[in-house]
Amino acid sequence: MRYLPDSLMNSLADVKGFDKEAFAQVHASGEQITSIRFNPAKPVSQVPNFPISLAPIPWTNYGFYLSQRPSFTFDPLFHAGCYYVQEASSMFLEQALRQTVDLSRPMKLLDLSAAPGGKSTHLQSLITADSLLVSNEVIKSRAAVLKDNIIKWGSDNVMVTCNDPSHFARLPGYFDVLVADAPCSGSGLFRRDPEAIGEWSLNSVQLCSQRQQRILADAWPALKENGVLIYSTCSYSREEDEDILDWLEQELKAESLQLAVPAGWNIVEVQGRSGAYGYRFWPDKVKGEGFFIACLRKTSGGQETRLKLKNKPEVAGRTEAATLGRWMQTEGYDFIKHEQTVYAWPAALTADLSILLQQLRVVYSGVRAGELLRDKLVPDHALALSGLVNDAIGRTPLTNEEAILYLQRKDLPVRPAAAGWQLVTCEGQPLGWINALPNRINNYYPKELRILRDN
Ligand code: SAM
Repeated sequence: MRYLPDSLMNSLADVKGFDKEAFAQVHASGEQITSIRFNPAKPVSQVPNFPISLAPIPWTNYGFYLSQRPSFTFDPLFHAGCYYVQEASSMFLEQALRQTVDLSRPMKLLDLSAAPGGKSTHLQSLITADSLLVSNEVIKSRAAVLKDNIIKWGSDNVMVTCNDPSHFARLPGYFDVLVADAPCSGSGLFRRDPEAIGEWSLNSVQLCSQRQQRILADAWPALKENGVLIYSTCSYSREEDEDILDWLEQELKAESLQLAVPAGWNIVEVQGRSGAYGYRFWPDKVKGEGFFIACLRKTSGGQETRLKLKNKPEVAGRTEAATLGRWMQTEGYDFIKHEQTVYAWPAALTADLSILLQQLRVVYSGVRAGELLRDKLVPDHALALSGLVNDAIGRTPLTNEEAILYLQRKDLPVRPAAAGWQLVTCEGQPLGWINALPNRINNYYPKELRILRDN
């Protein structure tokens, strides 16, 4: 373990819950905690393919600690999107949301800093099917990873965008919930990533604090009046946590929301100077990494402005819809065309899709069904993982070993029951497509996602 900077330790001296000895000790111990969060849309009868015991994480219905860290790369269910490997403290987002909004009604949510997708996939599991999640990441390469994770999760009501937070001001009063998991100085992850210690400085804390204010101020107009902001960081520093809450109350007139947190969870409730509540996770007190989260309500401004639709997106015609219907569930979906590519989008959300397409740099939305070539569909990987494929489409079940070969894009030693396009599955969970020809099987697992190593 690298040496924790004195400047960090001194700066935390008056932060509530800081126990210098215990904090230093837990960092020196080198203990690593592994946790996963299951995808309720892809239930698995047996937990990941490894002999590991699971213990529930108390603040979420879907998260579990693992008794040891397996090689997730060689578990087909990981690639099928049955679970997401995520740090335990950050799953407290579920409490923040459950306790501040009515999750039984349709909502529009913006996850402002979303890559690689931990919070977005979690949010998607918590909202109703007719809710819309805009999952944004400003850095292009990271937005691509976010897109892959959203596809793997099998979501149809998520739009992935690559915009600067300021661009969301184009959507005044549009969102019911704004999640800002802000870029921060990262002290909360030092135990997991000791290399990051070298990059930490008091100056970077100051810079992050200013950037956090800028990001929040930029995106604030997009939140509805009475909408909820969930702000989080993985920093212990007051400048990035309590001070930001004070700033939100003073400058943006946000109202703090207190959460009910059982004492046994050992999460430290803190307050800013003006009384705003925040929740800090210390790794010497909880089984998880350092994390801070707070919820605030927007009290003024944010009347939704009705945006005018300039161009309607092109929708698939009746013949094309019939072709799609041979492959997938079509009821409740609109099919949006972009050249030959067709995207399935929940029909109830099509008007929103059109408006957002006009205002944002959309990287991905709905489910990419595939390319339509006259009356034929070349199915997309996203369709395979979406859960929307008709039962009439053939399935080729694979063993664990065969599934790894498939995920490595190697030749498959199997003989599908029928010719043509088939979904390959492992333990009933789709992994992707193959096309069985008379003399060979074409493996359509995306090249850029393939496992490069051998087990
Ligand atoms: N929410 C993500 C999750 O749970 O998987 C983690 C987000 S991480 C804490 C912060 C993200 O903010 C990074 O993906 C980073 O690229 C992004 N970011 C960096 N600079 C930013 C900026 N100026 N505005 C908004 N986001 C930014």
